[in-house]
Amino acid sequence: MHHFYSLATWSLDVTALSYGESVTFTQELPRSLSPSRLSDFQTCPRRYQYASIERIPQPASYASAKGRFAHYVFEQLFKLRADERTIERAREFVPSAVEAILTDDVRTDIAMDDAMMNRLLQETEEIITTYFQMEDPTSVTSEGVELRLGATVDGAPLFGILDRLDRDVDGSLTIVDYKTGGLPNRKYDSQTFANAELYAALCEAKLGEQPTKIRLMYVAKGESIERNVTDVVVKARSHSAASAWGKINRFYDDGDFPATPSVNACRFCSYKDLCRANGVAVPV
Ligand code: SF4
Repeated sequence: MHHFYSLATWSLDVTALSYGESVTFTQELPRSLSPSRLSDFQTCPRRYQYASIERIPQPASYASAKGRFAHYVFEQLFKLRADERTIERAREFVPSAVEAILTDDVRTDIAMDDAMMNRLLQETEEIITTYFQMEDPTSVTSEGVELRLGATVDGAPLFGILDRLDRDVDGSLTIVDYKTGGLPNRKYDSQTFANAELYAALCEAKLGEQPTKIRLMYVAKGESIERNVTDVVVKARSHSAASAWGKINRFYDDGDFPATPSVNACRFCSYKDLCRANGVAVPV
């Protein structure tokens, strides 16, 4: 569930820039909506415009690179037969993670030097060690790893890649999402599970079976948080995705996605300078 692009390959199509007036986009509307892009849209429609319509690349950060690095190692580990998923085998995937994730563009974006590389390798080793204290992967029955799920839900064409879908001993399905950052702030509790709850709707639509549980594994912190999946929540998430998709289509036809700046929305947004240049009052 982690995607980033590189500034090094950025070429901006200026004909599509919005300066607060309506424009006709030269790019097509994306054919599907992923949970993370939906979250962009719900945070700030203009961010969705920049990321998903104009496709202006967002540079990699150290945190995003580390996230992809750990996801790569876990993905390879779970491609092995259950009895082969040992900590030694997990460590063996680190060199291929360097090859696969730390491309020249990513290294340029994050200004990688030897010290940063050592830090990344050290933190990855800590994540692997911590993960093996959290669960024993040889006893996990996985129905899918990096599972690509696409389905139309309430008229919205949803698509996403799920970290892992487990079959528990009682026969039910659990959505597993790895998190390499810090534990969530309680204030944002309803948002913490939002993406995974939409994945539950996708699973139900695509596989005909609703997962019963979501487990977010904070592999850098050694803690998991879980929530049961209910029909009410799945319906509510599907409904809000469908409503967002309707708005996305309207804003696209209107040629403008409103900016909704706020401290929380803008803090981690890579489009701050672009927004300011376009007259948006982005908080400092
Ligand atoms: S900087 Fe703020 S207002 Fe601009 S796109 Fe990002 S979130 Fe929206």
